[in-house]
Amino acid sequence: MTAERAGIAVCPGSYDPVTHGHLDIIARASGIFELVIVAVVDLPIRKQNTLFSAEERCRMISSEVGKLGNVQVKSFDRLIVDFARENGATVILKGLRAISDFEYEFEMNQLNRKMAPDIENVYMMSSPQYSFLSSSGVKEVATFGGDLGDLVPRAVAVRLDEELKR
Ligand code: ADP
Repeated sequence: MTAERAGIAVCPGSYDPVTHGHLDIIARASGIFELVIVAVVDLPIRKQNTLFSAEERCRMISSEVGKLGNVQVKSFDRLIVDFARENGATVILKGLRAISDFEYEFEMNQLNRKMAPDIENVYMMSSPQYSFLSSSGVKEVATFGGDLGDLVPRAVAVRLDEELKR
């Protein structure tokens, strides 16, 4: 029996910048869903200013996910449930790290579920090696010239170095 893949999922986030933690979730999701749409928040309320423009954040992800074949990258600036509906997605997929993400995701889940009971929220546990990897941590490491080798793709490390290294 060949398993069928399950519809379209959107993976929202600020991706400022994309890390191997994000890419791990995206790659695993691409094995489960027919199509994965990485949804890059244009103006994140939670993160205020981003280091990279939405366009560059999208470009950095696109150049890493091309080989997967069923992943698209788009920016958005409205409710994720509306973006999901417009793109025919029935699932909002989020990665969960250690325990830090839980409370925020739990709250967002209740809000999204109320607005869009037709869209399911699915959570994928971070792979152990990426459980404590965040974009903000990566920016901190880059600021002080730390080694980004295991944390982000090479091209992203170069751009972080250009923008942040003191
Ligand atoms: P960050 O907090 O690193 O800025 P984003 O807002 O870009 O992350 O997060 C986008 C999505 O990716 C969220 O669902 C977030 O929980 C998930 N995510 C981020 N980093 C990781 C990681 N290292 N492992 C698993 N999921 C992650």
